[in-house]
Amino acid sequence: MSVIVVGAGLAGLTAATELAARGVEVTVLEARDRVGGRTHGLEVAPGQWADAGAAYLGERHTELKALIERLGLATAPTTMLGRSRFSLGGDPESTDGRFPPLSPIALGEMFDLLDEVTKAVRADAPHLTPDAERLDRLTVAEWIEQNVQHPDARLFFPLFLGEMMAADPADVSVLHMAFYLNSGGGIRYLNAFQGGAQEERVDGGAHRLSELLADKLGDRVLLSRPVRLVEQIGDRVRVHTDQGVHEGDSVVIALPPLLADTVEFRPELPAPRSSEVTARGCAVKVHLIHPKPLWRDHGLSGWSVSSDGPLLSTVDDSPPGEGVGILTGFVTGSEAKTFAALPAEEQRTAVLAQARRLFPQLPEPIGYHVTDWVNEEYSRGCYAALFGPGDWLAQGPQLTEPFGRVHWAGTETSTEFFGLMEGAIRSGLRAAEEIAPAG
Ligand SMILES: Cc1cc2nc3c(=O)[nH]c(=O)nc-3n(C[C@H](O)[C@H](O)[C@H](O)COP(=O)(O)OP(=O)(O)OC[C@H]3O[C@@H](n4cnc5c(N)ncnc54)[C@H](O)[C@@H]3O)c2cc1C
Repeated sequence: MSVIVVGAGLAGLTAATELAARGVEVTVLEARDRVGGRTHGLEVAPGQWADAGAAYLGERHTELKALIERLGLATAPTTMLGRSRFSLGGDPESTDGRFPPLSPIALGEMFDLLDEVTKAVRADAPHLTPDAERLDRLTVAEWIEQNVQHPDARLFFPLFLGEMMAADPADVSVLHMAFYLNSGGGIRYLNAFQGGAQEERVDGGAHRLSELLADKLGDRVLLSRPVRLVEQIGDRVRVHTDQGVHEGDSVVIALPPLLADTVEFRPELPAPRSSEVTARGCAVKVHLIHPKPLWRDHGLSGWSVSSDGPLLSTVDDSPPGEGVGILTGFVTGSEAKTFAALPAEEQRTAVLAQARRLFPQLPEPIGYHVTDWVNEEYSRGCYAALFGPGDWLAQGPQLTEPFGRVHWAGTETSTEFFGLMEGAIRSGLRAAEEIAPAG
């Protein structure tokens, strides 16, 4: 049996590796000149890597943790020791712990409300949730307008959603938000460093996972091959790239939905994989490099949250040991759209001015890197695609349903840990199992 896999992110590489282990002949076609997709390493100093894409994981990410171990990699804890910095409308202030200096009652009520809607959604099939139609029609922005009154909660909510989903509340349906949070383990798990989804990182960078998987697949992975057309002819598939045509018995499309819809299918798919309201999650990551994690000398954790941007949050992503200090800044949601449209020099000026305001104790960074995922041709949605009003009811039923010899993978096809590396890996395993069941 032979299978063509389209996309060499974690989903595609997992599917290909699993199929190859089951004796299937595989070919992986990747558009970029590198593997890894939404994981990407940045060498910020000799031998010191920062995650320009996905970084964090927690103990419930069982398939990811198993993969890390199988590949001989290790994890490093995300350091969160010391005081936090908050800039929420006034001068920046320091607090103990991660809770913002806002009304605890208002924020508590907001999180209770969020918890309630999150728990009410069926994570395995959100479109079958009672009341799905209403929740799918409503944007999160409209839901906040109707349900969240306190100014502190209104200020904080978009920051929370930006951090969790890189989402602008206007772009995403309530059903999708609730599903995303539920699928990822609930708001407390997703948001937590200690004991949560942000507890650890892959030592040396998450991109190493894809690189090592691709190394093992060897010349079965072909780079710089954007797939344009997938034909099903009789009991064969023909997958067209600009460089040539690859034939197989089946194909796995391991792409985000907006990119799957750039591929032509013959015969046509019964329904597109996205709609005009399927949005891109928007994230820009900014890395500020210091000779060492200097903020720790001042009793600070490096964690900050700001309502006045461009960096909505910062976190200490320094490698363990005596290496460089890496402060990662997140620009997300609507702020990311504005920031990504600025000339590089204006971006730099705004970021450095904000860093000086937030961390006046620190000298200028010795390195500065911007990774703009908003305009990445071959991602179109980071951390993941955002399902807009009506998308779940339209897409949900055929999210993973094969179309003849066309199978689907990618984190956006996983109802478990949707949008995360764990979801991508689980989707690849599911697609492999559909095509060549184990045993
Ligand atoms: C800034 C950022 C932060 C994130 N943070 C986290 C985090 O902390 N923890 C976490 O778990 N997840 C995080 N994520 C999400 C995580 O990266 C993704 O869920 C996961 O990597 C998706 O894997 P995938 O294989 O489904 O898709 P992708 O990685 O997008 O792979 C799809 C592949 O298909 C290729 N491709 C596209 N079009 C074509 C075509 N026409 N032909 C051939 N190939 C094509 C692409 O180049 C890409 O390599 C983050 C993502 C970003 C960008």
